[in-house]
Amino acid sequence: MERDEDLLTDLREAAGTELFGIADARAYGEKAPPGHRPGDYLKGACSIVLLGTRMLDLPLDGLPGTRKEYTVNFHVANTRLNQALFAAAGFLQERGHKVFPVPYLEMPGWNLDKRPAWALKLLRHLAAIPKVHDVLNARVLWENLSFRHMAVEAGMGEIGLNNLLLTPDHGARVRLVALLTSAELPGGKPLAPSLCRPERCGYACVKACPVGALDREGGGTDKAACLRYYIKLGLPGINGLRCGMCVAACPMHSPRFRGETQRKKSE
Ligand code: SF4
Ligand code: SF4
Repeated sequence: MERDEDLLTDLREAAGTELFGIADARAYGEKAPPGHRPGDYLKGACSIVLLGTRMLDLPLDGLPGTRKEYTVNFHVANTRLNQALFAAAGFLQERGHKVFPVPYLEMPGWNLDKRPAWALKLLRHLAAIPKVHDVLNARVLWENLSFRHMAVEAGMGEIGLNNLLLTPDHGARVRLVALLTSAELPGGKPLAPSLCRPERCGYACVKACPVGALDREGGGTDKAACLRYYIKLGLPGINGLRCGMCVAACPMHSPRFRGETQRKKSE
C-alpha cells in the first residue's frame, strides 16, 4: 500500500502544475450549499485536488488594449490545466480510486481576430433573451463547483474584494481546475485572510470594473452586470473576449506591493 505522502508526491508529479493543493471534500461539503457539494458529484468523495497555473503578466498589464492576447492566454492556461487534470485523474484511477474531474468548460470556437460583426450582433440579441441569458449565466460563466472556494478550503489563498482567489505568490493571476476523488489525501487548512488590502491598493479592482459590478463593501459581484458586459465583448464560451479588468487591477501578484503591505502591517 502506497503511503499518503508518496501518493501525494507522485500525484503532484503526474499533474505537473505549478500550483497544487488538497482540500478535505467533507469539510468543504459542510460549508457549500446543496447542489454545490463534492458529494453531489462523486459519492464518497474524500479529497479535492486543486491544480493551478499563473497567467502571463504582459497581456494582463496591457488591458483593455490586449484583450485578444489575454483571452488566448486565458484559454491556453485552461487547456493546459484540463490536460493536467485528466493526467492526474488517470493516475488515481489506475490506483483504484474513484475520480470525478471538474474541468474548465469554456472553450473558444472562433477566430478571435476575424469575428463577423453581423454574427456578433445576432448572438448578442439571442443572448439577451431571458432564458438564453439564464443558461449562459448558470452554465457558462459560473460553475456549480466553485474552484476558488475549494482552493480557499485547501489553504491556497483567500477571496479578495474582486471575488477572485488571491494567492500569496501570484495574487489573482491564476487559473484553476479541480479533481474530486475517493482517495484520502492529506489536505491543507484555510488561511487566515491577510492578502486583500483595499486601503493600500485604493480599491483598485472596484475602480477598474467598467460596469461597476464590484462594490467596496464586499457585497459580491453583480453577475448580471458582469454578464451584460461580457456579451458586449462577444458570446462567452463561443467567441467572446474576456474582460479581465478585475484580475489585472489587483496588485497582489507584485512582490513589491506585497512587501509594502507587509511593512505597513508590521509598522
Ligand atoms: S470581469 Fe470585468 S465586468 Fe466582470 S466584475 Fe470583473 S471587471 Fe467587472
Ligand atoms: S485590487 Fe485591492 S481590493 Fe481588490 S482584491 Fe486586490 S487587494 Fe483586494
